[in-house]
Amino acid sequence: MIPYVREIEFEYGACDQVSPLIRRVVCNNPGPFTFKGTGTYIVGRGEVAVIDPGPDDAAHLAAILAAVAGETVSHILITHHHSDHSPLAGPLKAATGATIHGCAVKSHVEEEAGAPKMEAGHDLAFHPDVSLCGGGTVSGPGWTMEAIPTPGHTSNHLCYALAEENACFTGDHIMGWSTTVITPPDGDMTDYLESLQRIRARNFETLWPTHGPPIRDVTPFIDAYLAHRQERMDQITLALSRGPATIRQLVPDLYRDVDARLHPAAARSMLAAIIHLERGGEIEAGGPPGPDTVYRLANA
Ligand SMILES: [Zn+2]
Repeated sequence: MIPYVREIEFEYGACDQVSPLIRRVVCNNPGPFTFKGTGTYIVGRGEVAVIDPGPDDAAHLAAILAAVAGETVSHILITHHHSDHSPLAGPLKAATGATIHGCAVKSHVEEEAGAPKMEAGHDLAFHPDVSLCGGGTVSGPGWTMEAIPTPGHTSNHLCYALAEENACFTGDHIMGWSTTVITPPDGDMTDYLESLQRIRARNFETLWPTHGPPIRDVTPFIDAYLAHRQERMDQITLALSRGPATIRQLVPDLYRDVDARLHPAAARSMLAAIIHLERGGEIEAGGPPGPDTVYRLANA
């Protein structure tokens, strides 16, 4: 069981000091992929960095600008290009003169026509001024932030470690309220599992996801996240041990306890897991990745 943390006290548009160096403003965009909304973090005092400014929302821009009144925004740091994270970077840059840091969309990401909506959508206009795809450090007075490449949720996902508090801003890579959606082809389960290990190895004291409250029991939480993915993969190989099957056939069985409206999302996650198992030589595919491809155990 994942020890979810979902309790969060806030008021939309208000700025809360949540740690000695971190302030948070929550955008009023709650939803199935954003929980209570996008939590925009402001790091430092006087000369600050803003992490994930959020959707292009005039009220949220005004709230961020009010929070940093009299201060300089030197850096805008983006975890990934989803539309609840990056679109406000442009307007915030125009208002403050800050430079945008992040990793540009790597692959040509297109929303598949007719595919179920799995995420808050892609911000294909996202272009950082400074590329941190390979990692890198940015700093201001009293704060040092290191970009950590964490592909998986998207191919360009970055987490940002705050050295002074041994904390990490995890975007959508690790969230306290939910598991992360992995939608191939931009989402990749093999990369995702490696990226979880990369964050786990750092022994951070606190994780600050873009949605929801901070995670304080970091290692047990990441271990539960990893165990959950392994459990889902074990369920798939167990089901295929009873005979070849398609994702369309497996989902209603393996996700029978889950609301049927979430089955399309479950099918995408299952595809991500199956591609990972196929790479590992555990599963063979009878065709290109998809819901109606017949999968079988490799040794069957
Ligand atoms: Zn996302």
